[in-house]
Amino acid sequence: MYLIEVYVTNSSLNVNRPFTYVYDKPLAKYVRVKVFFNRSQNIAIVVSCRSTNQTREEIDQTYGFSVQEILEVVDEEPVISEEIFELASWLSKTTISPFIGCLNAMLPKALKTSKSLKGPKMIRKLHKNEGDFAFTKRQREIYDLIDEGMIAAEARKMSVSVIGKLIAMGALTEYEEEAQYENTDVERKAFKTLTDEQQNAYDKIISTDQIVSLLFGVTGSGKTEVYLHLADHFLKQQKEVLIMVPEISLTPQMIERVKERFNDVIFYHSELSDQERYEQYRRVKEGEARIVVGTRSSVFLPFHDLGIIIIDEEHDSSYKQDNVPCYHARNVAIRRAITHHAKVLLASATPSLDSYSRALKKEYQLLELKNRINLNLPEISVIDLTKQIKKKDSYIISEPLKEAISETLDNNKQVIILLNRRGYSPIIKCAECGTTLMCQDCDTPLNYHKDENVLKCHQCSRTYRIPKNCPSCGSGKLIYYGFGTKRVEEELQNMFPKAHIDRMDRDSVNHKGAHAKILKAFEKHQTDILIGTQMIAKGLDFPNVTLVGVLNADASLNMPDFRAAERTFQLIAQVSGRAGRAEKPGEVFIQTFHPDSSVIQAAAEADFARFASEELKEREVTGLPPYRKFATALFRAKESALALRWADLYAKSLAKYPGLSVSEALPPALEKAEGWYRFQVQIRAASARTIAAAWRWIVQARPLPKEMRVALDIDALNIL
Ligand code: ADP
Ligand code: ZN
Ligand code: ZN
Repeated sequence: MYLIEVYVTNSSLNVNRPFTYVYDKPLAKYVRVKVFFNRSQNIAIVVSCRSTNQTREEIDQTYGFSVQEILEVVDEEPVISEEIFELASWLSKTTISPFIGCLNAMLPKALKTSKSLKGPKMIRKLHKNEGDFAFTKRQREIYDLIDEGMIAAEARKMSVSVIGKLIAMGALTEYEEEAQYENTDVERKAFKTLTDEQQNAYDKIISTDQIVSLLFGVTGSGKTEVYLHLADHFLKQQKEVLIMVPEISLTPQMIERVKERFNDVIFYHSELSDQERYEQYRRVKEGEARIVVGTRSSVFLPFHDLGIIIIDEEHDSSYKQDNVPCYHARNVAIRRAITHHAKVLLASATPSLDSYSRALKKEYQLLELKNRINLNLPEISVIDLTKQIKKKDSYIISEPLKEAISETLDNNKQVIILLNRRGYSPIIKCAECGTTLMCQDCDTPLNYHKDENVLKCHQCSRTYRIPKNCPSCGSGKLIYYGFGTKRVEEELQNMFPKAHIDRMDRDSVNHKGAHAKILKAFEKHQTDILIGTQMIAKGLDFPNVTLVGVLNADASLNMPDFRAAERTFQLIAQVSGRAGRAEKPGEVFIQTFHPDSSVIQAAAEADFARFASEELKEREVTGLPPYRKFATALFRAKESALALRWADLYAKSLAKYPGLSVSEALPPALEKAEGWYRFQVQIRAASARTIAAAWRWIVQARPLPKEMRVALDIDALNIL
């Protein structure tokens, strides 16, 4: 007999410990099995196995209950390695979330412990057998048209009955194969010789004993070229390389740049299907490819011997997962690098204040690229919208910006316009009683979408028909306020009827490949003006763009979040970096109602160091990250009073815990989302460990009723 410890994967049971079963054969660690748990069949993963001389009865006596048998073994091979198991345990501990939830977050869907018992998607193919077959004329024709290994479903399109007969007579055999993900080829390009500045950074990254280096390099300083040289170095040492990029916006261009230099690159991002993800995961596991370009979850791929993890645009918030387990890919990367004796390179033109302050303290090696490869930084002008409005000018596209666009188009150059709001009009208000139309589930104003002629909630995507009358007073005077990307597109098309204008936001890229297509058209200069949300602000390299306009720089500044200034600076700096990337000089216009704000000023002068030192000083005085840890606990319930009661109880109890400062139960900016009422409690302490210990204590002492949901984010990036 063998005693087998397993983690049961039923996530509705909040049990975070292994359970014991028996089996008559030994089982390898980390294979999946089926067990009875809580009177239903569940998938579980084996974490230990030891033999025993005891009989079943003796075992039951030792445990004090009837120990059940494992029903079935699912896998022949372990689904994860020892390292991945330990990583999941570490993640569970540091994010205070259940082990199984962590493991599931790390695996592609096809391997998730709780998901299907089935393996990956299989496709059926046809094998042609040799032999003398008495074909009819029609059968002969079709047999000749079939290639070896043809997909059976394709062949059946010619004739279901004939294929059936050919199989029946033995001329064809149907077999199954794992579906493969195809890679397209691009033209190979040579490595560029590094500039002195680039070479210096490269040398220091290779030679340092420090695990983490921070490459602070202005936009266009050639950071990507440094990554590619580093990747080459580590691949030549037979090590693996992971280049991480922010969610989607960067991917098509980065993919191409990496493919130009290396064979067998693996891409791992959210546009892949579950099948493709599984396939890429398997290729890493089998060691078929050693260089990966991926988004957040690629940090969990089953590497064997990593040389370096490069995190491009390391400040980007898409590296942080906002739902449980709330992990930051940067921390996971560092953890993995330690295990693999590898290096981590964090890189950005606007590093996160967290990373930057660690670099200033020499915890990370700080490296700078101060010069753009081709030219100087663009010239930035701040336009005071208050003044423009007094002059009866448009507050969407101000006169100076309009003139600059006109001139740019005359010179046959391209323009990028950034506006962080999609849709047509963000607010619909009644002129009589002032009522704003809101989403019934989310308590957010509805946006008008002109294309589909509907009102849409940007929180939950629910759509509403446009009412003729105000729902509260019945008046017919509904007025549309504010503007989104779609409205700007219309306005610009009216101003410049001959210009080719395109738009990139969540509405225009909602189908696979749309994103790459828009960028490709812009790259080929089939588009003159590209309007977009922050999707276009990051990392893109278009040499022909000489003008960038930021339409409302204040939107992100007004967010009720202590990182608002940091985000605003990043956004302006990033989008400014899109202008004048080749030999042509660039120009940037920032439209704002707050031209005197110190953030806008620092951004206009592209002075990150000044911005960072002012902002860090303020964070230190006010006791905010990176000086203290800032966690949030979000309480949700279908009833507002219930959510408030528990948030309040937790807030008051936690406040008594030594070393914590705790807010009261706060209604977040969005009090109701997708039908759930929400309250937030903010927790600060000197260390994450203190917060973790306090949290473990409170959930034990005050277990939540099952109508309540709570999510703790121990290092919250979005304050809500
Ligand atoms: P960053 O990632 O820092 O914004 P990029 O890597 O996109 O900058 O580089 C900007 C431009 O300079 C790109 O067009 C790139 O091909 C070019 N470039 C980078 N390094 C070199 C080099 N050593 N020699 C010539 N051109 C380079
Ligand atoms: Zn909604
Ligand atoms: Zn009204």
